[in-house]
Amino acid sequence: MERRKYVKPGYKTKIVVTVGPACREVGMLQAMVEAGMDAARLNAAHADRETIRAEAEAVREASRRAGKEVALILDLQGPKLRVGDLKRGMAILREGELFYLSVHPVPGDERMISVNYPGITQALKPGDSVLLDDGAIELRVEGVEAEGVRCRVTRGGVLRPRKGINLPGVKLPLPCLTEKDLADLETGLEVGVDWLALSFVRSAEDVEHLRSLLREKGSDLPVLAKIEKAEAVENLEAVVRSADAVMVARGDLGVEMPLEEIPILQKRIVRVAARHGKPSVTATQMLQSMMEHPSPTRAEVTDVANAVFDGTDAVMLSGETAVGKHPLRAVETMRCIAREAEAELPYSAWLEERREWIGKGTVEAVCMAACELALQVDAGVIVAPTESGFTARQMSRFRPRQPILAPTPSLQVARRLSLYWGVHPRLVEVRGSAEETFAAARDLAREEGYLRGGEAVVITAGLKYGSREGIPTTNTISCVTEEG
Ligand code: PGA
Ligand code: MN
Repeated sequence: MERRKYVKPGYKTKIVVTVGPACREVGMLQAMVEAGMDAARLNAAHADRETIRAEAEAVREASRRAGKEVALILDLQGPKLRVGDLKRGMAILREGELFYLSVHPVPGDERMISVNYPGITQALKPGDSVLLDDGAIELRVEGVEAEGVRCRVTRGGVLRPRKGINLPGVKLPLPCLTEKDLADLETGLEVGVDWLALSFVRSAEDVEHLRSLLREKGSDLPVLAKIEKAEAVENLEAVVRSADAVMVARGDLGVEMPLEEIPILQKRIVRVAARHGKPSVTATQMLQSMMEHPSPTRAEVTDVANAVFDGTDAVMLSGETAVGKHPLRAVETMRCIAREAEAELPYSAWLEERREWIGKGTVEAVCMAACELALQVDAGVIVAPTESGFTARQMSRFRPRQPILAPTPSLQVARRLSLYWGVHPRLVEVRGSAEETFAAARDLAREEGYLRGGEAVVITAGLKYGSREGIPTTNTISCVTEEG
């Protein structure tokens, strides 16, 4: 695959990079931002307080050097069940043998292991299936005792310490935020992250719970709900409505649900999110083979492109960037695949379809009209000045063929907007009359090189009527060519 040394401006699909040992140096992160990274995911499941802090600082510095805002996402690990330590660092589980899950924190071996959740003795019953290490090992429950659960190995394998446990179909009465999550949340607020991701969301209440905690702390951080449990799929509409964004978390979802349902679930989640105007992130194993190899498989290239065709806002790299051998190449490759796919998107059909999805809000309607206008005159760019980010977010919903430049006076808004499809936030003062806004927007579009071929620019603004106080909401559109 051709290597791109630079990113052409105006791309649409956003790239979320998971930060880890393979890419936490400022120089590497800067190269990744320049190659098209838009958001950094700090994975609290694998990071302590100091690591989160150091990674956040490195991302901010890289973003400053690259001259581009990056959304910093702190991913809270949530109620993930895990096995404990092993006496010899690993254990071989053989099919047909007995294996004991203990509620006591004792080092394990071939016959037993501890589990970090004592509630398993209440939650499990004979016949239930227990999956270890993303489903690589499977156990069947034979009997439940006071101190643990007796299982039979139905699919053997090598077990390593701290691997995850999935209990498909079992509803656990666990709080959605663990002690560690609460501590990580504090760290996130201290370092000033832009988004919080919440793992193993089951219902809208899980999201509301985090939101009310944030409110108590005086924070309005947006929440990205990770869809990775059957319960979240069952409650999809409500979860999407309660969250600010969602992730198709295919890793755990593929263990909690039959693997063959993943492609269908992905399309459904992306679509429901789009209908509600919430961005979706498609995640996990997108370029998995690049963990080892400098180029991806055909299947992976097609997977990334298909996620773009599904209409996802962002695609995510996990192990590929966190611990892989080719983190920068993975970003370049993803950008390159997304660029190609974006050229083929059914922009007019999408715009037509999305007409049905919007309500009677003025801003939504004005944004939809602006996209229609841009499509009609084949504009070079849409400029959507935005105070709170609302106008830019609405514009993104309609998936215009043109990039959306979003001047905003708020650094926080600019960073949050980095996750939205097609939106290119710019930190710029946007106050002034509508005429001034229009002139400044056109200058910006010109400076950024979007009008070189004499294209038109479509600009939205708020016209002020009478003596109403404050900054008017977006209520008007201008369409101008270079000559004026
Ligand atoms: P994780 O989430 O990488 O934090 O597990 C994503 C997924 O499960 O796909
Ligand atoms: Mn997960």
